[in-house]
Parts: sequence; C-alpha cells; structure tokens
Amino acid sequence: MSVLIVGSIALDDIKTPLEEHKNLLGGSASYGAVAASFFSPVNLVGIVGEDFPKEHIALFKTRNIDLAGLQIVPGETFRWSGEYLWDLNTRETRSVALNVFEHFTPTLPENYKDTPIVLLANIAPDLQHHVLDQVRQPRFVIADTMDLWIAIAKPRLIELLARVHMLILNDSEARELTGETSLIKAGHKLRAMGPQYVAVKKGEHGCLLFGGDGQFFSCPAYPLEDIHDPTGAGDTFAGGLAGYLAQKAEGEVTFATLRQAVVFGSVLASYNVEKFSLERIKTVTQDEIASRHEIFRRISQL
Ligand code: AMP
Repeated sequence: MSVLIVGSIALDDIKTPLEEHKNLLGGSASYGAVAASFFSPVNLVGIVGEDFPKEHIALFKTRNIDLAGLQIVPGETFRWSGEYLWDLNTRETRSVALNVFEHFTPTLPENYKDTPIVLLANIAPDLQHHVLDQVRQPRFVIADTMDLWIAIAKPRLIELLARVHMLILNDSEARELTGETSLIKAGHKLRAMGPQYVAVKKGEHGCLLFGGDGQFFSCPAYPLEDIHDPTGAGDTFAGGLAGYLAQKAEGEVTFATLRQAVVFGSVLASYNVEKFSLERIKTVTQDEIASRHEIFRRISQL
C-alpha cells in the first residue's frame, strides 16, 4: 500500500548554539516523505519554485517517492529560518518567506485519490481540508499540525479533527488546543473532538498514544547523547508512522499496529536529529532501523 503525503517543501536556514547551516532541504512533506519511504511507496504533493535544487528532486526519486503531485512553478521556494536555544527544545522562528507556497493549492493527480493511507503533514488546515475533499474513502487519515494554526486557524483545525482518524501534535500544542494542563486529560479531550487516535509528542521524553476504551501507550524516547538539529523530528515521526501503517495494516488499523508504528516513527526521528536537514535520515539502513527498534523494545519492557 502507498501513503499520500501533503505538506510543505522548504529551504531552511538553521542555527543551533554550536552550528549554523543555510539553504537546507526542509519542510514537513520532505521529512515525512523520506521517512515513510523506508516502509512504503509515497505519493508526494507539494510546491517548489524553479530555484529548488535538482539534487533534492533526485533524492526524492531515489527513495521511491512519486513526484506527479509536485508542482514546480515560476518563483522562489518557501524559505524558513529558525534558531534553537541551549536546550535545543526551544526554537524561535527568525524569518519566513512564503514565496510560491503562498498560493499553493494541493491538487491530487487522479491516481493519488485512492491512496489508502493519508498523511496531512503540517500545512494550513484549509489546505488539509482541501486534500480531504479530493481523496476517495481513505482507510486511515493522519493529521499533523503546529502552534501557528492553533493561534490563527483554530476553528478550521477543530473542524478538521472530525474528518481524521488520528491527530499528531506536541505537548504544548495539545495543552494550547484543549486548555488542559494534564496531557492525559488533553489526550482524552482531543479524542472526543473527533480522531479515534491521538499521539502527543514530548520531544526528548517520548510520546503518548491514546485510543478508544482507555487504550494507552507511553513510548520512551531513544536515549540519544548528541543532538545536532531537532528540525523535522516531528515530521519524520509522522512520516515513519504513516509509512509503517501502509506497509503493515492490511485490514483495519488496530491499536497494536499503531503502537508499533509509533515505535518505528520514534526510531526514525531519533536518527533524523543526529545531523542537519535530511543528511542522516537519507543514509539510514534497514539494519540500523532494526537495531534501534530492538533497543526501544528492551527499554520499554517492565
Ligand atoms: P518541525 O521541526 O517538525 O516543526 O518541522 C520543521 C519544518 O517545518 C521546517 O523544515 C520548516 O521548513 C517547516 N515549516 C516551518 N514553518 C512552517 C509552516 N508555517 N508551514 C509548513 N511548514 C513549515
């Protein structure tokens, strides 16, 4: 089975307390698509300008990512710049240039409309709705989001929750969206707003997965010593999770499959932060995935 991924494709400038890199491949769909491609074929929908480097297109092609839904239009690619503070958890956006992204309308090629697993990676809720208006009976739809949309498009985001099977967001976003301090209460409240499953990411502290009938899983984070660039960890997590579901969920997606998907998403996110941009994730091997998965298994056992 394939996974459909719609999101941003960007050129990022990233500054951490120790390093600064410019013109990096970034964007929620770039990270998500490469992560998903470890498990399943990907149909990618996004937009870039004519300045978008050919090497990034080549990377997508080598990863079995279909680019029929990639719009390459006159103008410049979306640019985003962020700076991390010492804890590498706190990030400030330094600048945003929407460029061609400003007029992006995600249009699905006809053969993408029946993709069974759909990942609405982080983009404006209006655009996420527009994708759902085009797909035909998807088996499982996952939505990611960010603090910006909670701040400026909350009503549309809340409407979206009724149309998806799973919501992925981080701890501060879960608190913001629900007004709850307790992440457990927030998880239950978000489920009551529509999605059958909710994953609340806690950065270096792992992830909480909520399902129906009190189903709950707390996934640890991989005990990584050196983080170089946390950018895209969440997108990589979501892409890995979606790709794993496309590979494994033949029938209905169950909580047991989702638990595994959360672990594989976490494995890929742990590799992603070891280097800037997609430099590490693009070199990860299936053996490396298996060995870190085994460590997750051991540290989760009681
Ligand atoms: P994350 O670290 O998971 O928040 O994702 C970082 C990526 O999100 C970067 O590569 C950015 O290019 C991209 N990004 C930043 N702002 C936005 C936005 N408003 N919409 C979509 N993608 C964005």
